[in-house]
Amino acid sequence: MKLRAHHLMCLHTFEDEGYDENIIRRMAEIINTIRNQPETRIEILRRCDYICEACPYIKNSRCNKRPNLEEFVRLLDSDVLERAGLKEGQIMKAKEVFPLIKQKIKPEDLATICKGCEWLEKGCIDCYRRGELP
Ligand code: SF4
Ligand code: SF4
Repeated sequence: MKLRAHHLMCLHTFEDEGYDENIIRRMAEIINTIRNQPETRIEILRRCDYICEACPYIKNSRCNKRPNLEEFVRLLDSDVLERAGLKEGQIMKAKEVFPLIKQKIKPEDLATICKGCEWLEKGCIDCYRRGELP
């Protein structure tokens, strides 16, 4: 499964509400897969991924939610890659990569990493603190 780096963090925060319906379905499907099949191989990207494919804002394989948002989310991806010691294109099992993200990125780090994301103001740090994958 192909996932962009910052979505490894966002998936920990998923609480089934407030998003577009297609995204909710896609994220719930991914979480089910990684919980039921923790050996699932995750290819870590710095571009649009399996979640973006279900998003109404994707256009020409770029995030088009706001002007220049693709550039912003790529910077987010880079920051997550660096903090977690991962490389673009690396493949890891779900049971390894999600705990690694939680180990390397602490809830309070989201205030810096995610600055500019609308979900930060909506309690994402607490959701991340509660989140546990797989
Ligand atoms: S604040 Fe935004 S980028 Fe950060 S984890 Fe939440 S949804 Fe993802
Ligand atoms: S808002 Fe952008 S980065 Fe987020 S899922 Fe949609 S296309 Fe992907």
